[in-house]
Amino acid sequence: MTLETQRAQARAGGGLPPGMTPDLVEQLRAQLRGGLVRPGDADYEESCRVYNAMIQKHPALIARCADVADVIASVGFAREQGVTLAIRGGGHNGGGLGICEGGLVADLSRMRGVRVDPAARTVRVAGGNVWGDVDHATHAFGLAVPSGIISTTGVGGLTLGGGLGHLSRRYGLTIDNLLAVDLVLADGRFVTASAEQHPDLFWAVRGGGGNFGVVTSFLFRAHPVDNVIGGPTLWPVERAVEVMQWYREFITAAPEELGGFFAFMTVPPVAPFPEQLHLKKMCAVVWCYTGDPARADEIFAPVRALSPALHGVQPMPYPALQSMFDGLYPPGLQWYWRADFVKELSDAAIARHAEFGEQLPTMHSTMHFYPIDGAVHRVRPDETAFSFRDVRWAEVIVGVDPSPAKAQEISAWTKDYWNALHPYSAGGAYVNFMMDEGQERVQATYRDNYARLVEVKKRYDPDNLFHVNQNIRPATTGAEELPH
Ligand SMILES: Cc1cc2nc3c(=O)[nH]c(=O)nc-3n(C[C@H](O)[C@H](O)[C@H](O)COP(=O)(O)OP(=O)(O)OC[C@H]3O[C@@H](n4cnc5c(N)ncnc54)[C@H](O)[C@@H]3O)c2cc1C
Repeated sequence: MTLETQRAQARAGGGLPPGMTPDLVEQLRAQLRGGLVRPGDADYEESCRVYNAMIQKHPALIARCADVADVIASVGFAREQGVTLAIRGGGHNGGGLGICEGGLVADLSRMRGVRVDPAARTVRVAGGNVWGDVDHATHAFGLAVPSGIISTTGVGGLTLGGGLGHLSRRYGLTIDNLLAVDLVLADGRFVTASAEQHPDLFWAVRGGGGNFGVVTSFLFRAHPVDNVIGGPTLWPVERAVEVMQWYREFITAAPEELGGFFAFMTVPPVAPFPEQLHLKKMCAVVWCYTGDPARADEIFAPVRALSPALHGVQPMPYPALQSMFDGLYPPGLQWYWRADFVKELSDAAIARHAEFGEQLPTMHSTMHFYPIDGAVHRVRPDETAFSFRDVRWAEVIVGVDPSPAKAQEISAWTKDYWNALHPYSAGGAYVNFMMDEGQERVQATYRDNYARLVEVKKRYDPDNLFHVNQNIRPATTGAEELPH
């Protein structure tokens, strides 16, 4: 019986795949050092929760992997029993791709450990770490690995999709600083992929997501980043057209030591924000300057000259900037995501942005516009699986709110905003800013790299065991959507 047939029978059978008998489940349990969680267990509901509370999925089994052996056992079980397999890193994925309905989740969140080699400026990170763990460990040595803009995101998902954040202009995407990964493959083999070993696989994992195996360990290059000068500058949302037009020119010409993403936001009613700004809709740029502090005044002079309502930029440890938004965005909110890459930010597009920025539906909802230039442009689009290096921006629109009652409203705003701006986009989107949006969007995102990704997928995962992701299909057949 093929894996596909087994999956079809499982779906027809209402959840439990054929072959997943209590005996087999007990055999899996006996193989796992980290334990197995099943429906009815006291910690089952808690274990099903992912960061985005809009995602409600209930796996049949959750393997709490403690080590590589547990990962090999989980992958083997899913392969042999034809069970849908999801890999959970930090659990942050917008579309909930770290969990599945009715299948087996290999939960890596207990596989943690960061080892910094300050002399070699490299960092070894286990498959289940979050970025806050890495920032904490590297900061002690005045080093950092380029990642995102929040500390609770998983190293696994963020890295395998690309990794875009405060340090991208200066040091590139996270994958541009990836030196090697250890992976458990679909057939249970354990390999290292790097420029020298399995270079095809190493090319594919740098942007191709979790399609090729379970990464149990990452080796990164780190950079001398210690204290930075960063934080948000805010202007009233009514000035959005002027500020966005200014930002477009300013950041493109700014030295690469300056990172800064544009955002629409609502000021939270908490210190240190001044009371007169509480709950006001604003446009913002969140900065991260890693250059010579003596030049900071000069660098930020044009920002101050634009008469902001608040210039909250100050020296701080890099991990403090990385965790600045953690409190505002705790796990358990409703999130609805849409994204695009953008080549040119035209005045016409800015006018539409301003329109939707003024209509932010809830305090947590936002739009971020990340520069893609500098070091990111120095890697060719075909050098890694991450194809959109010839654009200038990554746009992400997120409707966010604590209340499920607002789910409809935040989704509608996000979709309307995205529909209005999509015609001005380059066609694809950053995979880590997408929800579960189907094959067309995945292919549009990998563009010319898709065919090569399919070849690598056929070589390493011909049965598409790893399909709970932005899926690279190993064959042209089986166009039906696989269960997530
Ligand atoms: C609040 C917030 C802020 C964010 N900010 C940024 C940002 O600044 N920059 C940025 O680039 N992205 C950002 N993201 C997006 C983020 O990169 C994605 O959500 C990413 O998928 C999260 O990875 P994870 O490991 O936490 O997710 P999970 O839900 O655990 O997994 C996501 C996907 O990756 C796969 N995966 C995870 N770990 C492994 C592994 N070890 N081996 C194989 N496959 C694995 C999973 O199977 C799944 O398909 C943000 C997301 C949130 C919610």
